[in-house]
Amino acid sequence: MKEIFLMKLGETVLKGGNKRQFESRLRQNVRRRMKPYGNFDVYIMQSTVYVEPEDDLADLDGAWEACRSIFGVVSLCRCRPCEKDLDAIFQAVEDYLGDELEMAESFKVESKRSDKAFPLTSIAISQEIGGRIAEAHPATAVDVHHPAYTVYVEIRDLAAYVHGPAEPGAGGLPTGVGGRAMCLLSGGIDSPVAAYMIAKRGVEIECVHFFSYPYTSQLAKDKVLELARLVTRFSSRMTVNVVSFTEIQETIRDNCPEEYFTLIMRRFMMEIAQRLARQDGCGALVTGENLGQVASQTMEAMAVTGAVVELPVFMPLVGMDKEEIVTIARKIGTLDTSVLPYEDCCTVFTPRHPKTKPTLGQVLHAEQKLDRQALIARALESVEKVRVAYDDAEGI
Ligand code: ATP
Ligand code: MG
Repeated sequence: MKEIFLMKLGETVLKGGNKRQFESRLRQNVRRRMKPYGNFDVYIMQSTVYVEPEDDLADLDGAWEACRSIFGVVSLCRCRPCEKDLDAIFQAVEDYLGDELEMAESFKVESKRSDKAFPLTSIAISQEIGGRIAEAHPATAVDVHHPAYTVYVEIRDLAAYVHGPAEPGAGGLPTGVGGRAMCLLSGGIDSPVAAYMIAKRGVEIECVHFFSYPYTSQLAKDKVLELARLVTRFSSRMTVNVVSFTEIQETIRDNCPEEYFTLIMRRFMMEIAQRLARQDGCGALVTGENLGQVASQTMEAMAVTGAVVELPVFMPLVGMDKEEIVTIARKIGTLDTSVLPYEDCCTVFTPRHPKTKPTLGQVLHAEQKLDRQALIARALESVEKVRVAYDDAEGI
């Protein structure tokens, strides 16, 4: 007998046109994410996404794993559909959940009837099915207050569905409903988490990485591409713009006072990121900056860095503690890659005594010898665009 997935939509406060757009985007996203795993019918009814395999060839476990990381879903469960008839429902419970019930110390049945034409109330369904289960599994006690296992019965429009406890979904909003943003992705712990957090709000993410060969190695670049790929597990495919940053860094080293190196470099990063963002239709920049973490992340330093761009700069980690960031990095699976020990271009030419309370006037003065626009134009010519997608790397 078939198994299907039911996924409950998040942010149900959305109404009218927004809700329709939200649902149609989510359906599109789920269809795309199911492609590597076979033929699935994906439809939305009553604020629930149905993911139904169309034949026996579908890879259900692979598809289930993918569903757990789709934004816009608050909870999801694997379930067995059956006819809207008590005998069929009980049979489905036995076939599908019998082993769990046999092992559990106690159980209860919770029913929901959204098809009001069904003759029994929710309570009556629970009592009837619960009674039959108790008879079939005499060692498993009924406990409606603290059951070790809960059987769910849902009577919906098309069929009845039975399942065990649902799992929490990835939350957030469906990828694509919130526009697109350009994330400055380093090889550190923070920026992949920042990309994930903005992606979670329904935003498609593109990335830019500044690469200073030979000061930073090919391994450092591969690490960043791998981090980007890990972020796409939750969102969609993305392009990583790899910008050659060596000339800019050497020019800063040779022409600017050392205490301003990092600030001037970060101003280049922001300006180049904004140019790429505009080319790619992105409406905001995203960074992993975090107040007070390093010298370039004081309020004054951020003001100077932010002054070169007009697009909004989203810094979702700005008020978090490192521990909180690390917890998210671990949860989304980027931590192990982030801690690999390769140099980032920020750590090349680091000033011994960086300026922590700069003013814009001081920084403009410090960078006055540079032909910023010519350097930026050459860096933009060097851009290598690398497409990354979670499933491609698995050879599917
Ligand atoms: P991360 O862990 O993300 O590297 P960090 O705490 O090390 O952050 P910085 O090195 O000061 O902080 O960088 C601040 C932000 O600037 C990063 O979060 C990232 O968004 C951006 N950034 C830094 N280096 C690069 C780079 N080489 N390419 C692209 N963006 C970068
Ligand atoms: Mg860093």
